[in-house]
Amino acid sequence: MNKNDSCICCSGRPYSKCCEPYLNYKANPKTVRQLVRSRYAAYALGQAKHREYLVNTWHPATAQNVRMADLIAEGHKWTGLEIVKATQKGDLGRVEFKATYSVDDGPEQIHQEKSAFHRHKGIWLYLEGEVNESEA
Ligand SMILES: [Zn+2]
Repeated sequence: MNKNDSCICCSGRPYSKCCEPYLNYKANPKTVRQLVRSRYAAYALGQAKHREYLVNTWHPATAQNVRMADLIAEGHKWTGLEIVKATQKGDLGRVEFKATYSVDDGPEQIHQEKSAFHRHKGIWLYLEGEVNESEA
């Protein structure tokens, strides 16, 4: 992805001013909304360093349950992200979002998730999510 391309997270902003600084550890997301966007971008870009980013933004309390295979999602093409609702209260954040994808060029699927986040040592991390998968 080039710096001036519009970001893969569907924000409409250039990559260099959106998720790129987070994915390259030049900055930490200040809001849970930014964290969700950057994690979606990591899934969508899907290289080894992006999988590392997903692991690094996982809360230590739940990270032991993460399986590398879940982060690869072979054949998945992520096609869109919509943040339905995002709230922050102190060090706790909640985000409801919809991400669309297709597998091996099949019909579009919707991954709907209500995620919880915790700010740990000043950095927002993904804690857990309640997921619903459906056909688009
Ligand atoms: Zn972005």
